Amino acid sequence: MTQTQELAPGKLYIGGAHRDAADGATRAVLNPATGAQVSTVAEGGAADIDAAVAAARRAFDEGPWPRLSARERGDVLLKIAAVLEQHREELAQLESLDTGKPIAFARMVDLGDTIDHFVYYGGLASTIEGATRSIRRPGFAYTRREPLGVVGAISPFNFPLILSTSKIAPALAAGNTVVHKPAEDTPLTALRLAELLTEAGLPEGVLNVVTGGAAAGAALAGHPGVDKIAFTGSTATGRAVAAAASATVKPAMLELGGKSAQIIFDDADVGRAIEAAVGGFVFNTGQFCMGGTRLLVHRALYDTVLGALAEAATHVPVGDPRQESTVVGPMVGQRQLENVERYLALGEGRVVAGGKRLDIDGGYFYAPTVLADVSNDSRVVQEEIFGPVLTVQPFDTEDEAVALANGTPYGLAAGLHTNDVARAHRVAARLRAGIVWINSWSVLDAALPFGGYGQSGYGRENGPEGLNEYLQTKAVYLPTD
Ligand code: NAD
Repeated sequence: MTQTQELAPGKLYIGGAHRDAADGATRAVLNPATGAQVSTVAEGGAADIDAAVAAARRAFDEGPWPRLSARERGDVLLKIAAVLEQHREELAQLESLDTGKPIAFARMVDLGDTIDHFVYYGGLASTIEGATRSIRRPGFAYTRREPLGVVGAISPFNFPLILSTSKIAPALAAGNTVVHKPAEDTPLTALRLAELLTEAGLPEGVLNVVTGGAAAGAALAGHPGVDKIAFTGSTATGRAVAAAASATVKPAMLELGGKSAQIIFDDADVGRAIEAAVGGFVFNTGQFCMGGTRLLVHRALYDTVLGALAEAATHVPVGDPRQESTVVGPMVGQRQLENVERYLALGEGRVVAGGKRLDIDGGYFYAPTVLADVSNDSRVVQEEIFGPVLTVQPFDTEDEAVALANGTPYGLAAGLHTNDVARAHRVAARLRAGIVWINSWSVLDAALPFGGYGQSGYGRENGPEGLNEYLQTKAVYLPTD
């Protein structure tokens, strides 16, 4: 596959078959690195969501999937992992083409985590079990862990494979069936994934994919035939999803935006901290919900760290995502690029690196940007920019650092750099965030739960917590007297 070659048009995947949208609508898919069209996909709407939910419902009510033992489902998930491993390069190329992420990262991070979701939940399936309970009456009382039914999964553009399979793998392990609506900007790997899962032995109708935008997402979130919504996206959309889900009293898991802080204390390993700080804000071109976008630096180190950051940010390799050496690719689209430009146009803080669009091959590139001397109530500090932009603020005391770190409505991730073990654990406990990294940044694993505090959402993905999201408990009693 090359960046100039056009791919076959993508179709909806419903009940194990490809089809056009009910009204025949399509949407162009662009290569973010050049702005050129690489394909079209069907633009699904409410009628297509109806069809996909009906297929998923049938597969749940009548099909074999929920009736297999959990261990048998686990075996299928492990087979899926093996098939995805065989297609690792193909999927990495497709993900890189669709999102603009550097190929080296797509291979290692996106495909690595995606495959691991199936390995991890394939193994964890065998832990789905109930318990016997001692109750006051004579008899046999026990609990069963059961699937919920049809899960609606809505994913964002920034990690299309990772953030769909973090829902699909545990939902399938638990015995549910799924309708997945990928982001409108990045639909390609979702369609290929569904084909590969069928090839690996997933029965028809267990995973359905409806490509499309807000209309399809809203139809899925409010659909009476859907038993749970698993959503990753912005906080604004998350509110709409929760409201739509509440109409039919369905649970919603919301993985939303972030504005995560990294704290560098005066006793930190400064070289290591700067490396984590740069990686934390440029990774995935800053389109990372857990990006370390606010850096809090002890005043004694402020000037040193700022100088080193400006130097490092200016030398990060930005460019063609197909090059192995590229670290920062383009933003996913014009809309996201203009959003970053709007924040920089506010003129808040002092630009010490970047602060401008880059003219490369007609793509949506923005230079890694560092803003110093920002006030804590400025919009660039308080709001999610979702681009490669870092704000840097000084602090004097531990209490002040914690207050600044906790000082936004978000609470997705946080980090701290110190060589004082007691301080590391003390501050980790005080940070209001779903995950805290000490002397590191953005270490994620299928076994390690993540999710939001505050307006970063609720529910958890990964780990046993991520499996529990897709199970419900039934109590059963049989008298023995
Ligand atoms: P978005 O909210 O614009 O879109 C997310 C998904 O929701 C897309 O599939 C979109 O089509 C769909 N959608 C849009 N309107 C909808 C509606 N009314 N009802 C139902 N679905 C609707 O987000 P995005 O721009 O794709 O992704 C970026 C955002 O996602 C950022 O805010 C980022 O922080 C967040 N995010 C969070 C996590 C996390 O784990 N917490 C991970 C990645 C991204």
